[in-house]
Amino acid sequence: MNTKVLFLFRSVIIFIGLILLAGTSSWAEEKLVKLTDGVYGIKGKGAKVNTGIVVGSKGVFVLNCQLDSYKRRLAAIQSVSGGKPIKFVGNGHAAGDDIGCNAHFEDMGVTIVGSQAMYKHLLVKGPKSYKKRLEKEGSRLVYPHVTFKDRIVIDLGSHKVHMIYMGKGHTIGDTVVYLPKEKVLFSSDLLFADNNPTLREGDSVNWQRILQKLKSWEIEALVPGHGPIIKGASNVKRTIDALDGYFTDIRTQVKSMMGAGKGLKEIQKGIDLGKYKKWGRKKHIARNIKVIYTELGGKLM
Ligand SMILES: [Zn+2]
Repeated sequence: MNTKVLFLFRSVIIFIGLILLAGTSSWAEEKLVKLTDGVYGIKGKGAKVNTGIVVGSKGVFVLNCQLDSYKRRLAAIQSVSGGKPIKFVGNGHAAGDDIGCNAHFEDMGVTIVGSQAMYKHLLVKGPKSYKKRLEKEGSRLVYPHVTFKDRIVIDLGSHKVHMIYMGKGHTIGDTVVYLPKEKVLFSSDLLFADNNPTLREGDSVNWQRILQKLKSWEIEALVPGHGPIIKGASNVKRTIDALDGYFTDIRTQVKSMMGAGKGLKEIQKGIDLGKYKKWGRKKHIARNIKVIYTELGGKLM
């Protein structure tokens, strides 16, 4: 190839690349979405964690915040809070993308709320997994100030925020935020819209039990832990059904392949998850199969 042709060829490739990037930018962006009066979601960049916001007459409630996006999230919250202070921050589960901003919020005088199960999980996991990382980034590990067993209702005046402990699905401390009057759910990591979930610390059978419970609630808007923010009851239902079906599909195939004497590696290779091929976070697929394989009594070599 002469250099002119090579230059042209390279330019075309770069041009195609730019078009592809432009096409995915809405997916990659971090953006604030209004769900109903005083209730908002912030969509994380790519598949990064989302944030739920409730602006009540007495103050603001926030769920889920990762340290690296703190400044952007705080600016987004302040753009809709009308000068009202952030009074409460909820922790949905013991993970860095949920508790990462606790120290900043504590310094602002915010009360941090989490379930007892989540708190106990963070007591074990925090020092091992997050303490050093947070300190390296100039922050620190902060635990919930207030804990509850099954449910706590936070009265923001115009809005009542229910934090409800759901049991072990994604992690042992999974807690959701529900606004019954506004029919909005912030699911934390119990829902990953259009994305493969993380099952590493979880229990797929109990996670599906939790999903059945969520299906019986009236939900017209959803801020999932990760993935797009969902509006409309039928779209929310479709999102919950999809994750429910994902676990069933994996379990059914793993069971039948185990019955045929196949080992984990063969199962991971042979499984057909074509239905979910558009879902992101693909690196979690093999591990999710492994967890379900062990739940079914499969032995790891
Ligand atoms: Zn997460």
